[in-house]
Amino acid sequence: MTVMKCAQCGENLETEKDKGWIASISGSIMGDEVTDTYYFCGGCGAYTLEVSHDRFLGREDVPEGTPVPEEEGNQRVRLIGKCPDPWDKKCRCDAHREYFGGCLD
Ligand SMILES: [Zn+2]
Ligand SMILES: [Zn+2]
Repeated sequence: MTVMKCAQCGENLETEKDKGWIASISGSIMGDEVTDTYYFCGGCGAYTLEVSHDRFLGREDVPEGTPVPEEEGNQRVRLIGKCPDPWDKKCRCDAHREYFGGCLD
């Protein structure tokens, strides 16, 4: 099981669906599938962003999170929420295009 730690305060974050992570979005960038997952820390109020790249699958590294301030995280989570299918890396809705900018294949 993956244990994510808050990138800001070091608390363990719940990674189970419905408990811990808030939002996740996938896109295809230059042939690689990239998934950004946001976790919210109830302890310090910051988000932790975990970026996973399909080319790194199979590595056993402990995932490293990047701290995201609450306000910015809220905006991104809201944007992800506009997409009906954020896990679909082939989705080209407004939310996907805005999130990934011009980087999508
Ligand atoms: Zn925290
Ligand atoms: Zn979309």
